[in-house]
Amino acid sequence: MERYESASPTLLDETEALLRRGDVDGALRVLERLPRSRLDVLGTEPEVAANRQRLRLRGALQYRLPEAPGLSAAAREEVRVTLALGTLFGIGVPSLVERVWPVLAHESYSFLPLERFAERLRRPEVGPLDAWLRHIADGLVSGERERVRAELLVHHAYFAILHSAELAEIERRLLARPPQLGGVRVQALRPSGCPICVWPDVTYTADNLPELPMLPAHPGCRCVYRPVPLSG
Ligand SMILES: [Zn+2]
Repeated sequence: MERYESASPTLLDETEALLRRGDVDGALRVLERLPRSRLDVLGTEPEVAANRQRLRLRGALQYRLPEAPGLSAAAREEVRVTLALGTLFGIGVPSLVERVWPVLAHESYSFLPLERFAERLRRPEVGPLDAWLRHIADGLVSGERERVRAELLVHHAYFAILHSAELAEIERRLLARPPQLGGVRVQALRPSGCPICVWPDVTYTADNLPELPMLPAHPGCRCVYRPVPLSG
């Protein structure tokens, strides 16, 4: 399967079987047999990378897609395992959509924020859309609507997992004694800004950490946390 070329098919199958049985530790042990280069996707020290893997997996398994009411238990399980595999093996959103689409295609879930997001994208004040947002905006009013909804659903859940792992790491560094990080800001990823988010000009530190917004803030949100180094 060409879309999983980055992961060994055998390890993928083995990890998937373990995740479906709920054996998280077993899945992580399988992953330890991956070549080092696969685990070091973020270019960090092995220990930090391994911790990130664990955080991501925990996030993947805990995330229950609460914002998508109407999904059947079977579909939720499929999405949950797929997201866990995606975050562990670094499989991107388009491939994850391919994987969950056969299940989601038979579901009629409701995800109100998706509709609001689609409506927002068509407003003139949003300005020019980049390629991905254009694909979303056009797709939501085309015959591909359900598929694009599924893509946004998976995109949202996937980034919720990645950001929750990142947030845990940011908190750890801000709360360390002495702190290892000056602060963190929230920033829209695309140069013209997120079509929905407007962030205050605030640096979050240990003092106002509880106010640090959760990302993604809405379906299709591509805002990021930007660490601010310690200044002397
Ligand atoms: Zn945003």
